[in-house]
Amino acid sequence: SKAQLFDKGTRVNITFNDVAGLDEAKVEVMEIVDFLKNPKKYTSLGGKIPKGALLVGPPGTGKTLLAKAMAGEAQVPFFSMSGSDFVELFVGVGASRVRDLFKQAREKAPCIIFIDEIDAIGRARGKNVMMSNDERENTLNQLLVEMDGFGTDSGIIILAATNRPDVLDSALLRPGRFDRQISIDKPDLAGRQHIFEVHLKPIKTSPNLDIQKLASQTPGFAGADIANVCNEAALIAARKGKSQVEMEDFNDAVDRVIGGLEKKNKIISPEE
Ligand code: ATP
Repeated sequence: SKAQLFDKGTRVNITFNDVAGLDEAKVEVMEIVDFLKNPKKYTSLGGKIPKGALLVGPPGTGKTLLAKAMAGEAQVPFFSMSGSDFVELFVGVGASRVRDLFKQAREKAPCIIFIDEIDAIGRARGKNVMMSNDERENTLNQLLVEMDGFGTDSGIIILAATNRPDVLDSALLRPGRFDRQISIDKPDLAGRQHIFEVHLKPIKTSPNLDIQKLASQTPGFAGADIANVCNEAALIAARKGKSQVEMEDFNDAVDRVIGGLEKKNKIISPEE
């Protein structure tokens, strides 16, 4: 069976309001959104619109969310694939899936293509432990061919995410490919507070919840961890039959998420 390895131009209704913190990154991606909305404004003086950008940062910090929000803001379809899904394919399949993806994207342009975990296919030669080198190179070469094959006025923006920009094949970073890098860092205290505010919206909380305190008790948490805390807290309170989620439920949820992070051997770096 020919399973789809990518999202086929989904419409998303996520906007920049759903993305908390990441203020500098937002400014940079807003420029790219404006390229998609008003290409002529930029090409009128002979300039070339960038084809894409690399979102660089640790897991769970909102790279996928930001890419989706760009599609939502520009009101264009969102195509996505994950580099790691290409790892176990038979020879030749990866390249043909990449070709399919770009073919469909061209038909629906203007649009955004998002490639998560691009390092899984975009590692410099000889450094990949997971995929056979031939297959990885075929897939990567096809991606480079596709990126070179469309003009800057085609209305396709390609975003890719990685937490290992250092291992990427330099061919990917050449001018006309992923020549812009946008860093997406773990949130600081204020960022965590904003992320809590976003994820607390749908939750029935007690009026004396101290969001600032929650933010200060969660150094090293990425946005995904904070989303997890909010959800866990709601489930913990519901299990106890409560009608609203209280501070103690959040504290329990924080402990639980820290336990999970430690199990995954993630380092919670001291901060502030
Ligand atoms: P990965 O590298 O693991 O794919 P990622 O950087 O793409 O991670 P996302 O998938 O975007 O991370 O984040 C997972 C979830 O965490 C989001 O769907 C959202 O609920 C929450 N989240 C992460 N960062 C933020 C943020 N800055 N603001 C609001 N929510 C966030």
